[in-house]
Amino acid sequence: MTKQVVILGGGTGGTLGANRLRRELPDDVHLTVVDQDDSHVYQPGLLFVPFGLAHPEDIVRSRRRQLHSGIDYRQESIDHVDLETQTVHLADGSTLAYDLLIVATGAVLTPEETPGLDGPGWMEKVFTFYSPEGAAALEGALASFREGRLVVNVVDMPIKCPVAPLEFCFLADWYFRERKVRADIDLVYVTPLDGAFTKPVASQRLAGLLQEKDIELVTEFNTGEVDGEAGRLVGYDEREVPFDLGVVIPLHSGADYVGRSPGLGDDLNFVPVDEHTLQSKAAPNVFAIGDATNVPASKAGSVTHFEGEVLVENVKRFLAGEDLDASYDGHANCFIETGFHKALLIDFNYETEPLPGHFPASVGMPLLKESRMNHLGKLMFQWFYWHALLPGRDIPGIGADMPSAGKQTETAH
Ligand SMILES: Cc1cc2nc3c(=O)[nH]c(=O)nc-3n(C[C@H](O)[C@H](O)[C@H](O)COP(=O)(O)OP(=O)(O)OC[C@H]3O[C@@H](n4cnc5c(N)ncnc54)[C@H](O)[C@@H]3O)c2cc1C
Repeated sequence: MTKQVVILGGGTGGTLGANRLRRELPDDVHLTVVDQDDSHVYQPGLLFVPFGLAHPEDIVRSRRRQLHSGIDYRQESIDHVDLETQTVHLADGSTLAYDLLIVATGAVLTPEETPGLDGPGWMEKVFTFYSPEGAAALEGALASFREGRLVVNVVDMPIKCPVAPLEFCFLADWYFRERKVRADIDLVYVTPLDGAFTKPVASQRLAGLLQEKDIELVTEFNTGEVDGEAGRLVGYDEREVPFDLGVVIPLHSGADYVGRSPGLGDDLNFVPVDEHTLQSKAAPNVFAIGDATNVPASKAGSVTHFEGEVLVENVKRFLAGEDLDASYDGHANCFIETGFHKALLIDFNYETEPLPGHFPASVGMPLLKESRMNHLGKLMFQWFYWHALLPGRDIPGIGADMPSAGKQTETAH
């Protein structure tokens, strides 16, 4: 009998998962991907848009066309999931029955959750580069910014790609130096964390880079309000940070429909899963991948990619009635653009924090060290994304398990 596998979300995880599954599952398994639009954004490219290094149209492609033949694409908004009847309800009133469900609906920005953020001044004096519209609007604001305080603020974690706001600071330093106005601009990075980043060795290295580039670091700042008119962040502890131009990363949550689907999500609408198998806690025939899950890994495309291998294996095993593979180790891998055509690379998992050394083995890309090779890796990644990662092909030397061969475990603190 034909089995129905329904994949909610046709972004990074939904697309690579569907394409891999289509190759590996027999034809009597029917695959349907649901997404609300037909614009697949290469989100890492959003970082470059404000600096004129990429244009929104260069980083968007048709979602439908990224899916291989033999996969049905349904363009409609998801209203809710009924776990009892194993049915997905779409906004147009139609339904999709499933034998196995994969949640890949990512994370959404919720600026409305922070008082004042989307009020007066939003997209005039306060911007975000986390959406195509925001990144494009910020390009104009940066081009005319010649003096004053530029403040970059992460309201709270979790956010997608937690290093992207730091990369923004480093690129802003480069951009203003190139324009010979850096001396008249103060750059400030305001974070709720107690350091520049979550992982101690990387945090120390990144704080050092902020200092080298004369970027002020404000830590443990929990933003309670953004006053776009007056130009100030107000913390819950009543500290204030003034700005002339604010770049804010709003709070994130899982997709709204998760909250309308009894039993599926947590308080933030993320989907609790087993962190090694990606099977949901809600029901054995529901799995999740990427930013939509609650796994204690970064919300990153690299994580989504590595999870994909385990997810596909487990979907096959579940449909065959076999035990699941519990091998996802939290592997994450990120290039961190540092300006002046250089980047750092970090590679880590649930157990091992980012360490110096080389990736993927003792001869390879330098870890936690600025290099041009890493910058070229970051730029080339867009090609890999469309041509290898989304089609569900393996990228040579980059697998789901974190390699430890090139890492220096004796770290220089
Ligand atoms: C500025 C920025 C820079 C980044 N840089 C990097 C980087 O350098 N490296 C890296 O690894 N990662 C980076 N990321 C993160 C990376 O893009 C994401 O982690 C990745 O895309 C997650 O994939 P996903 O499939 O979970 O979610 P997404 O790719 O976001 O897909 C979710 C899909 O679900 C759909 N959806 C949601 N709700 C509904 C609904 N109700 N009905 C129908 N469809 C719905 C959405 O339309 C979307 O297509 C960056 C992200 C940003 C914003």
